[in-house]
Amino acid sequence: MLLDTYGRVATDLRVSLTDRCNLRCTYCMPEEGLAWLARPDVLTDDEIVRLVRIAVTELGVTDVRFTGGEPLVRPGVTGIVERCAALVPRPRLSLTTNGIGLGRTAAGLRAAGLDRVNVSLDTLRPEVFRTLTRRDRHADVLAGLAAAAAAGLAPVKVNAVLMRGVNDTEAPDLLRWALDEGYELRFIEQMPLDAQHGWQRAGMVTAEEILAALRTRFDLVPEGGTARGSAPAERWVVDGGPGRVGVIASVTRPFCRACDRTRLTADGQVRNCLFAREESDLRGALRAGASDAQLAELWRTAMRGKKAGSGLDDPEFLQPDRPMSAIGG
Ligand code: SAM
Ligand code: SF4
Repeated sequence: MLLDTYGRVATDLRVSLTDRCNLRCTYCMPEEGLAWLARPDVLTDDEIVRLVRIAVTELGVTDVRFTGGEPLVRPGVTGIVERCAALVPRPRLSLTTNGIGLGRTAAGLRAAGLDRVNVSLDTLRPEVFRTLTRRDRHADVLAGLAAAAAAGLAPVKVNAVLMRGVNDTEAPDLLRWALDEGYELRFIEQMPLDAQHGWQRAGMVTAEEILAALRTRFDLVPEGGTARGSAPAERWVVDGGPGRVGVIASVTRPFCRACDRTRLTADGQVRNCLFAREESDLRGALRAGASDAQLAELWRTAMRGKKAGSGLDDPEFLQPDRPMSAIGG
């Protein structure tokens, strides 16, 4: 298994299928995009499936989430999902997407074995969407969400990031809409992972502010009562249920002690944390002919070095060299 020196076991693998994207969300990428990875450096479909197989059969990974960049711009995504769904033991398979490609792919992905999707949508207003993502694709995302629900990729989750002065007044409207549509909404605090290094703590809309805004219109009760012990609540029962809302306080209330994640970038680097400044190269070893056992050992070693926390509160905190889109968010 993937055990670190703090006793945490990673069972949840995030696989970035590409660093490219068809949107330019301001909290993620600059308008002109980024210097994309060179094609030969990106893992092939076969290489991805092999590394996922090693993670699942040798390292105890039970959940695999495909992300990016925008995973649906990778032509082979459905085939990768299908081959991962055929692994024994079969991992739970999910995908984080901006939703634009779902109208075209949702049914095929479901048939291939995808279990769930998270769709990122930060606003209900097309003109705000255009400002935030620098593309006029709001209607495509809504169509993608509907296609995901129709294909049975349930429950469809929606991720929203609020930005001050842009969409921060929309929290209650987003929740009303998600409850009506049957989507499960989660707000995520904006993190210092943008390529432009423009994040500022003071400018960030905090979980506390989001909850206060939601409470102006909804009754929220922490899910599971006190069952989470000292952990801050992340999910709330809305108006007595069955609706829920998530508020992920990645910055103001990080919960690194319970982290169960390991990450694989599109160019085959293992990262033990979103905020790690080191990566471990699996692609080089893989292409040099390493055995499954050798690759598994490199992966174990990479995870053993995981730090206790993200370091966000450390005055010396340095943003990782790669932005979110290249790490795989
Ligand atoms: N392109 C896909 C999407 O947008 O869902 C998958 C990759 S994206 C990097 C994954 C998630 O990270 C999205 O929900 C996005 O909103 C979120 N994200 C990107 N930059 C972020 C930041 N600086 N802080 C918090 N979340 C961020
Ligand atoms: Fe693309 Fe997702 Fe980043 Fe937006 S958040 S630019 S959709 S990778």
